[in-house]
Amino acid sequence: MLDRVERESGRAPDQTSLEVWMRTTAHACRAELAQRLNHTMRTDRQRGAKRVHYLSMEFLMGRALTNALAALELDGSFREAAERAGVDPGEVLEREPDAALGNGGLGRLAACFLDSLATLGVPSFGYGLRYAYGMFDQRIRGGQQLEEPCDWLRDGNPWELHRPELRFGVGFGGHVETYTDDEGGERRRWRPAQIVRATAYDFIVPGHGTERVAVLRQWQASPDQPIDFAAFSRGDYQAAGAAKLAAETLNWVLYPDDSTDAGRRLRLRQEFFLVSASLQDLIARHLEDNTGLSSLAERAAIHLNDTHPALAVPELLRLLIDVHHLSWDAALAQCRAALSYTNHTLLPEALETWPVAMLEELLPRHLELIYELNARWLDHVRRHFPGDEELVARTSLVDEGGQRRVRMAPLSIIASKRVNGVSKLHSQLMVETIFADYAKIVPTRFCNVTNGVTPRRWLAQANPALAALLDARLGGAGSGEPDWRTHLDRLAELEPLAEDPEFRRELLAAKLHNKALLAKLIRRNLGLPIDPSSLFDVQIKRIHEYKRQLLNLLHVVARYQAICDEPEKSWVPRTVIFAGKAASAYVTAKQIIRLIHDVARVVNGDPRVHGRLRLVFLPNYGVSLAERLFPAADLSEQISTAGKEASGTGNMKFALNGALTIGTWDGANIEMAEAVGREHFFIFGLDAEGVRATRAAGYAPREHYEQSPTLRRVLDAIAEGVFSPGEPERYRGLVGQLLERDTYLLLADFADYLAAQAKADALFERPDDWARVAALNIAGMGSFSSDRTIRDYVETIWELPGE
Ligand SMILES: *Cc1c(COP(=O)(O)O)cnc(C)c1O
Repeated sequence: MLDRVERESGRAPDQTSLEVWMRTTAHACRAELAQRLNHTMRTDRQRGAKRVHYLSMEFLMGRALTNALAALELDGSFREAAERAGVDPGEVLEREPDAALGNGGLGRLAACFLDSLATLGVPSFGYGLRYAYGMFDQRIRGGQQLEEPCDWLRDGNPWELHRPELRFGVGFGGHVETYTDDEGGERRRWRPAQIVRATAYDFIVPGHGTERVAVLRQWQASPDQPIDFAAFSRGDYQAAGAAKLAAETLNWVLYPDDSTDAGRRLRLRQEFFLVSASLQDLIARHLEDNTGLSSLAERAAIHLNDTHPALAVPELLRLLIDVHHLSWDAALAQCRAALSYTNHTLLPEALETWPVAMLEELLPRHLELIYELNARWLDHVRRHFPGDEELVARTSLVDEGGQRRVRMAPLSIIASKRVNGVSKLHSQLMVETIFADYAKIVPTRFCNVTNGVTPRRWLAQANPALAALLDARLGGAGSGEPDWRTHLDRLAELEPLAEDPEFRRELLAAKLHNKALLAKLIRRNLGLPIDPSSLFDVQIKRIHEYKRQLLNLLHVVARYQAICDEPEKSWVPRTVIFAGKAASAYVTAKQIIRLIHDVARVVNGDPRVHGRLRLVFLPNYGVSLAERLFPAADLSEQISTAGKEASGTGNMKFALNGALTIGTWDGANIEMAEAVGREHFFIFGLDAEGVRATRAAGYAPREHYEQSPTLRRVLDAIAEGVFSPGEPERYRGLVGQLLERDTYLLLADFADYLAAQAKADALFERPDDWARVAALNIAGMGSFSSDRTIRDYVETIWELPGE
């Protein structure tokens, strides 16, 4: 290490910057990983292994160094070398920027999957885009969110392997022509108007407890010709650089979800760019080792993470039919055997569609193929459901109402082998609601694979205190026992330990340690003193109305008012912590962030509260901040309107770190509660059926307001400007929406939510009992490892041959 630092920087190891230390350590790890990569690839090739290709517009990887050092078992050597040079190893790790190439849960899931694919030794590639600017940085000014570009590549990326030899052309626009091939057959051929080059940048994903690795291949766009020399010679520099700018725009930014119509065209181009480059790459690899493409699906599973890569369907058809001359039937058979698709949301506004006119202009041949596919599909529907023309219209790939649009979820369903939801409830609702028609036509195609998270990052690395306790009780790596890091079901062995007072004491000590670290961070970043012994009540996730941060805030206000009424009573001290980003165009979500800050100013500044209630908003939520928050939480807020949260994965990270959950009967909360024991969960509110019935009966939110003095007082205070005295009307609209529509049923669940919060207070007053329940929560989390999730995918979806 010391030698490498000198060679990297041209300076003595004790005279270089922390950035140089970080870069050098990363390069050292990358060199080891590159060898493992070569070995992995060679073995897979010799075995003729079937590979998984995971296509995703988002990979929310976070930092890589701590994980790489752990996987390579080099953390000890690194710490020793750094300390010998008088450098703080923790400071070095802090210098690494987050790779924030995702918005939230969906992108983080993809990152956890890569970790598990590598660890389980599944031959696999992740495919994504190399965005220059990832998820925006969130700043708070005057209580309001400001977005700034996240310039994560500014100082270069020490992890990536540039692969200039891996280059593919991706077309856009132009026209389609008919020609006669050498055998006299008539064929169609796309003549794109522009070609953009895609070049590969590989990030090597280390496996744990194995020398195998996975690869995240990210595509970079560049123009076919760097500059237009004729234009340059005329002195028209803008025209000379136009193609370069157009190509590079593809890699500029990760689109925030909930985005507006602006930039939709660019988004479509990004999606196609990812899909086309990835498919060309995997086809080229297949042809290196196999004689033709009629065996493609035997060797390649191609997975679509949501519908963002759904253009893989027509692009794979085009490559097989137009370029490699398979027949329609043979090409479609390969699609249906190779492709699979995960649905991540039932929210109708999040289901992707693209205007036919836009597809016609950008991807004319793909639109033809979609029409042909649709015609064949609708024939199939008519044959099996004769006379049901309404079913035909509803299941058509083309939405004919108004501006004609292509529906991407149905496109993914009809050309896939399997379609899965991400928790039992979500998968069930998926076939009962949004995809009910398709489930009637192709019932066996639908299945469930419940999400999971990697215990390496989210427990072993994020929570060394708890990891040490688990090692002491379960045996760590090298103890001869299977390591819980890769065999998470071993957590079940903690169940008897929940009855061991010494274990409970140690568990509480580990938690207090983590809370003290977080209190220090909050003090440093926000200047707020926090009591580490208070109940840390944490809600961290994207800000969205269905996730109901506002319900949480209503509880905070109610508690504040109750404390002010009876300041002498012995209140259980609470620190309520929020973190999360709002999509830049999502006005209500941004207002919720502002309200959190307004309430925080009043509550934290009121002497009557006397520190027994603190409200904290930590800016710029992302993977690295999350790694500090999950280990320090006592109470996990998972309070979505039932039926709206597909699975959640934050819920799993909390419980794995020994937090108790207050939550609705939604997503994976249900399976977690069943694994842990319902009596060890604070479940409240309407379930999905209750939500449906409440709406069907004509929900009247105002009745709750009129019947509950507590609720009325909370909403009146917000509406009348108690928290925004300088602008008393600021939240009148927000409260008005709750009283008139309350789309997400906050008022219906309010009373039950407060009752559940009171139960949490009561248990927290008995630390030993709390610790027992926390231990049982951890013990029940064994099956929420992404290793289990990936095994399920391998068996039921990708159908890789067993060892
Ligand atoms: C786990 C995670 C999420 C997903 O959280 P949910 O509570 O499931 O929405 C989002 N962002 C980051 C940074 C995460 O680590």
